[in-house]
Amino acid sequence: LRLAHEGVRRLRPYQPGKPLSELERELGIRDAVKLASNENPLGPSPRALEAARAALAEAGLYPDGNGFELRAAIAARHDVDPACITLGNGSNDVLDLVARVFLGPGREAVFSEHGFVVYWLSTLAANAVPRMVPAHDGSRGPRRGHDLEAMRAAVGEATGVVYVANPNNPTGTWLRAAELEGFLAELPRHVIAVVDEAYFEYVEEPDYPDASRWLGRFPNLVVTRTFSKAHGLAALRVGYALSHPDVADLLNRVRQPFNVNHPAQAAAVAALGDADHVARSVAMNRAGMRQLEEGLRALGLHWIPSVGNFVTVDVGRPAAEVFQALLREGVIVRPVEEYGLPGHLRITVGTEAQNRRALEALGRVL
Ligand code: PMP
Repeated sequence: LRLAHEGVRRLRPYQPGKPLSELERELGIRDAVKLASNENPLGPSPRALEAARAALAEAGLYPDGNGFELRAAIAARHDVDPACITLGNGSNDVLDLVARVFLGPGREAVFSEHGFVVYWLSTLAANAVPRMVPAHDGSRGPRRGHDLEAMRAAVGEATGVVYVANPNNPTGTWLRAAELEGFLAELPRHVIAVVDEAYFEYVEEPDYPDASRWLGRFPNLVVTRTFSKAHGLAALRVGYALSHPDVADLLNRVRQPFNVNHPAQAAAVAALGDADHVARSVAMNRAGMRQLEEGLRALGLHWIPSVGNFVTVDVGRPAAEVFQALLREGVIVRPVEEYGLPGHLRITVGTEAQNRRALEALGRVL
């Protein structure tokens, strides 16, 4: 430990969960329900699966290190030049690239108290300093959401990166176009502003912004997206960043050349061509969220209103105990203590049957 740099010394050891099959073996059941990682219960588009299978025929060759086809498809989707795109092994990878390029000793990263855990991780791995800003107390915006005013105030000379998740995980809170645009306009240009849109496709609020539309206005803006959520390709690990070409050039300098494998690239191209699958996934999420909210209300529980494919619930007692009891019922959810939310569990929206299982188990356990 003493040999590691200071950032690494502050990181906690990674706590892996048990694989589903191992848990089922222990419990003597075959139908455990996993609603712990915000995956798409429909899985990928059949077209994406077919493309990945076909690509396996070329498994002996290195993938296209420039991701030519995938970047072209993403560029067409966003109406930007392919030079604006950086591909990642999941969007975690591009978040990490940002930290490696724009952080480092002596620099600071600003993000919200309940922000996505990878901002913390990447900042420390880059031996930079995390500046965690308290979330809204509800007086000037959604409770537990990003407090943009306080985040702006935390930005200084040493700030290299500001991370904003819209919507945020695990709170499911979101920022309106005008407030986010105002925040970006006020940021000093020496600060890279990351707008993490991992759950973009799920949000149906009329005021919700597509930050990639502002790329021409803000040369310091980096927008991240993923194929892991609405596209259902979490196992294949594909995400990307959209930015000014000069920023993309820097990110691509530190990117490992073959960070996105060949079946993943092929599947992602096919997924972009299947808008119906995304629409089906979003519709299912809308219905499932309603079902979960109704069930939680019936149980007398409070939750943080969420526009994502997950909801974080106040279980009113140590979340680890409830988590363990749910595990014994064959229902896997996620305690979110490490996000600064003790007593809270995050439940991913699943199929109708999965949601029912989760609600029934929660009712018994509580
Ligand atoms: N950002 C947010 C806010 C997330 O919740 C996640 C997934 N948990 C990611 C980024 C990263 O997802 P992936 O690496 O699978 O693209």
